[in-house]
Amino acid sequence: MSDQIRVRFAPSPTGYLHVGGARTALFNWLLARRTGGVFVLRIEDTDRERSSGEMTQAILDGMTWLGLTWDEGPFHQADGLDRHKGDVQRLLEQDAAYRCFCTPEALNAKREQLKEEYRYDRACYHIPRDESARRASAGEPFAVRFRVPEGETAWDDEVHGDTRFKNESIDDFIVLRTDGTPIYNLAVVSDDIDMRITHVIRGDDHIANTPKQILLYQAMGAAVPRFAHLPMILGPDGKRLSKRHGATAVGQYAEQGILPQAMNNFLALLGWNPGGDVEVMGMDELAERFSLERVNKKSAVFDTAKLEWMNGQHIALTPAEALLPLVAPVLVRDGLLGEADVDARRDWLLRLVEELKIRGRTIHEIAGHARTYLVDEVEEYDEASVAKHWKNAAEVDQRLAEVHEGLSGVDPWTPEGIDTALRAAADKAGVGFGKLAQPLRVALVGQAASPGIDFVVHTLGREGALRRIARAREKLAAMQGA
Ligand code: GLU
Repeated sequence: MSDQIRVRFAPSPTGYLHVGGARTALFNWLLARRTGGVFVLRIEDTDRERSSGEMTQAILDGMTWLGLTWDEGPFHQADGLDRHKGDVQRLLEQDAAYRCFCTPEALNAKREQLKEEYRYDRACYHIPRDESARRASAGEPFAVRFRVPEGETAWDDEVHGDTRFKNESIDDFIVLRTDGTPIYNLAVVSDDIDMRITHVIRGDDHIANTPKQILLYQAMGAAVPRFAHLPMILGPDGKRLSKRHGATAVGQYAEQGILPQAMNNFLALLGWNPGGDVEVMGMDELAERFSLERVNKKSAVFDTAKLEWMNGQHIALTPAEALLPLVAPVLVRDGLLGEADVDARRDWLLRLVEELKIRGRTIHEIAGHARTYLVDEVEEYDEASVAKHWKNAAEVDQRLAEVHEGLSGVDPWTPEGIDTALRAAADKAGVGFGKLAQPLRVALVGQAASPGIDFVVHTLGREGALRRIARAREKLAAMQGA
């Protein structure tokens, strides 16, 4: 038998791909990539009422957005029904399971009487096999229960280490309901055996299912896979991450201008400790370094500020060519660009995005910066910048007058030509370059922080720059009059 690692992601299509599910998918994917293994996708859609095709599609879309490609599947758990039933039949034949004829009413009455203390009293445990078979063929309704053996069930969890449960704490759980449908734990084990899964990596909310599943593997004579139970993800308030904390579906992060590589990087660090100081990693590097040994037991906290910081780092590392298709639709949506401009002004837009990409944490912030260069006038003058750099309005006005004149004569319109003109204007006004550039920035973009001044002037174009300077001079005149 080959020792290739086979993992699976097994979402139930009862909701969107949320942060916790995406992290589980990612860890499985990373282990498969790291070891040259196989990543299987299985949709656990046996709960017909709560599952929907729409949600299945949403999960596939979420994974595709993240780039978590699967090697096999998507398989649908519901398609395995006959196999699941066959496995139950075999358990019955081996006496590892038995028919339970207790009526729901009788079980409920006991449950109500005993409340938390309730355990199945094994009323049907000792029914002889021939009697059991006779009652079944006479049409008496029954469920099938697993015969939990005595002793203890233990496994060496890849994350939690030695984990054990006393079998006496496990009820003879139902594997096939009275309506003939198999129960979740049975279907999962049957599928994982069928798909030759070697490592089960999932959220630690499944720890309590694991002893039951191990007992099923053993009863079915199958090798027990390795288990890795990933730590819980908490919101900043220490409570389990949920809708209360805002967006939890990965698709919403896409809409908020988060890059998939940033989302993956961020998710990878929710529970996995790469060691060392490097936190910003692309998919290849994550896959190269990932290991289950470095997954923490302790719950991880979902910190939106960290996600945005991470996103800013990834945006800065991404070529403008790849960012423009994300930024441009936001600009078009906001009415700053026509559809046709995206192509017509492509080179101009690429230069702008390349310059601005280090200045925002999300695609929307980058688009927000780009807006400055697309509107006709400065929309807002930052008060602190005005107070600081336009303090002496008369002198600033004179410097801007020199700039206006100098820029009018730049030919050809290049950053170098602009630089020469600006330096000459500073000389004429009798000030150092900084004393010219800072007030000019305020005139051009409304604040003192911006990319290099030559770039700003060049990008605005002669007409745009001169118009803004003229507007600033009007403002300065008004300030002097006041
Ligand atoms: N379908 C289960 C869930 O969505 C996962 C089962 C498993 O990974 O074993 O929580």
